[in-house]
Parts: sequence; structure tokens; C-alpha cells
Amino acid sequence: MDNSKKEKQKIASELVKQINKNCDCPMTIMEVCGTHTHALFAHGIRSMIPENLNLISGPGCPVCVTSQEDIDVMIKLASYPDIVLCTFGDMMRVPGTKGTLLSARTDGADVRVMYSPFDVISWAEADPTKEFVLVGIGFETTTPSFGATIKVTKEQGVKNLSILSLHKSVVRALEPLASIPGVSVDGLILPGHVITITGLEPFKILETKFGLASVVTGFEAIDMIASLELITRMIHDKKPMVMNQYTRVVKPGGNKSAQDMMDTVFTPCDCVWRGMGVLPNSGYALSDDYTSFDAMKRFDVKVEPASEPAGCICGKVITGSAKPTECPLFAKSCTPSNPIGPCMVSGEGSCSAYYKYQRV
Ligand code: SF4
Repeated sequence: MDNSKKEKQKIASELVKQINKNCDCPMTIMEVCGTHTHALFAHGIRSMIPENLNLISGPGCPVCVTSQEDIDVMIKLASYPDIVLCTFGDMMRVPGTKGTLLSARTDGADVRVMYSPFDVISWAEADPTKEFVLVGIGFETTTPSFGATIKVTKEQGVKNLSILSLHKSVVRALEPLASIPGVSVDGLILPGHVITITGLEPFKILETKFGLASVVTGFEAIDMIASLELITRMIHDKKPMVMNQYTRVVKPGGNKSAQDMMDTVFTPCDCVWRGMGVLPNSGYALSDDYTSFDAMKRFDVKVEPASEPAGCICGKVITGSAKPTECPLFAKSCTPSNPIGPCMVSGEGSCSAYYKYQRV
């Protein structure tokens, strides 16, 4: 083992000892981001922390918080013969009311998996006889790249590309998230990649209005352990604030170019989140200059009101009201190879994390 690894292990071991000292009373900390949920399991950190430190998952997976009706809209759009629906791979197996995008493709729909939204510009240019619809999914981390794609589409005069904008803002969901009835949280692990874009300022409300000990952190084991030590210490000392542990990446003002791109192409709109309902101004609609690229305006799409799959409690899992293992379908009828809700499909989903690491 090289010296830097040994040094990190020594630091981690000291931090874990300190976490145990800090936790002199029960504490509940929420991982806002699904990647943190997976990282905590993958690095074995859950097995190192004291029993009275309760870690719960939050809404931090864009696929998981997409509403059932929005998934039905995607499937409906894909069924139109002239439309090519383009999305990230995770979305393919998320069950809608009737089937998935994968089953729609098996039935003949043209559904393509993209690795970057920019792929779709060249696909649309290569086949002007088809209408290409980009499924816009993601938080502040990915919304700027979708905005840039639509801006370039307009500048290049590509007429057969539009976007189904289902983007959501973590920043504008903070207040409702911190006020979910019946969920009592003492601290939050905040998503480093989102705050790289937004900057720290919008998160200060967690300290000033809600008194939550919150730390922005990265995804390495040492980041996660350091953030847990900081949060538990703030709770222990009764001095909650918002701290930035991920200073090597997150700058206080965030990424101004990315913020400008979002402000140019998108405008805030009310948006439905799975498990949380309509959150005011938490979505991204196209701004006036780009409204002609809105797939919902370009095509006549209507779907019936939809509810969660029978028995699935993804809505509760996303809001921290229940753990995946409390779902009666977990690891029985719902597994990664036969997912019933989005939290079992997505690579950032809580149910998939618990299935992978804590099934027994
Ligand atoms: Fe939904 Fe499956 Fe998770 Fe249950 S285990 S909440 S059915 S995704």
C-alpha cells in the first residue's frame, strides 16, 4: 500500500472515532443525492458508524423523481410513427402505466439511447424526415448541457428537434424537502456536483430558516467520512450551518456560464415530483425565445392521470419517509431484473443501492 493510501486510512480511522464521539444522541442525516447513497454503501461506511446515526435517502435521483404521468408522456410520444425519442439508458426500463420505453421499442417505436444530448443534433440533421424528441432529465448538473443543445439546435437551424423538458431544480425544492411532514432530519449531505453549478448561496436557507447542519461533499470515501464528522459535530455542538467540504471542486459562486445557459434557454415553472406533488417553480420550461422547441407544444400529447405502481412506495422512499427494505415488494416481486418502481431501476436509486448492498 502506498504512503498516500496509508495516510488516508489513518485520517479516516480518526474521523470515524470522532463520529462515534459526536453521536451521543440519536441523529438522522439525509443523503440528498442518490450517488452518495450508493457511495456510502460501496465504501462500507454504513458499517463503521454508530447505531444511533440514522442515514436516510432523499430525492437525489432525477429518474426516480420523474412522475408516473411524465413517463407515460414519453411512452406516448415514442408511439407516434414519425417521432424518434432520445433518452439516457436509465429511463428505458422505468415502468409507466402500460409498459416501458424498452417494451415500446420492442413493439416498433424508435427509441434511442444517447450518451450526450448533443448526439441528437447530428441524428436529427441526418434524418430530416423524422422528428427527434430529446427527453430532458436531470437537476442543475445536467440542465445546462441540455440548454446548450437547444441553443445550438436553434443557431444551426435544425427544425426537427425538440425537447420534453422534465428538468428539475434541487435548489427550488429545498424548502419543501426540508418541510416534509413526518420526516425529522437533523442534517443533510449536500450534492457536490449540483452545487458546483449553483454555488453555495441558495443553500444557506437550510441554516437560516431550518437550522439544519449541512455539508457539501464529494464522492470518495474520505469525503463522505469527513462530511459525516462535520455534520455530527455541528449537531452535537448545536451549531448548524452550511459547510463546504468539497472545496477542491465547489466554488462559492458556482459556475456562472452554466447558470447563464440555464437562464437563457429555460424559465422556472411549476413541476410535479414523484412523492412530493407539484412544487412551485421547481421545473424548467423553455423561455420565450426557445418555446418553439417545446415538444409538448409541438405535438398533441395527452395522457390519463396516473398513480404509482400498485404496492410501490417509491414516493415515500424518495422523501425519506420509508426505507426501501420497508417496501413489501422489495427483493420479492421487485428486483433490478424486474423493477416495479424507478428507485429499483436507476443507477442512483435507493432501492437498487439497498438491493445491491443490504439485501440480507
Ligand atoms: Fe418501488 Fe420496488 Fe422500491 Fe418497492 S422496492 S419502493 S416497488 S422500486
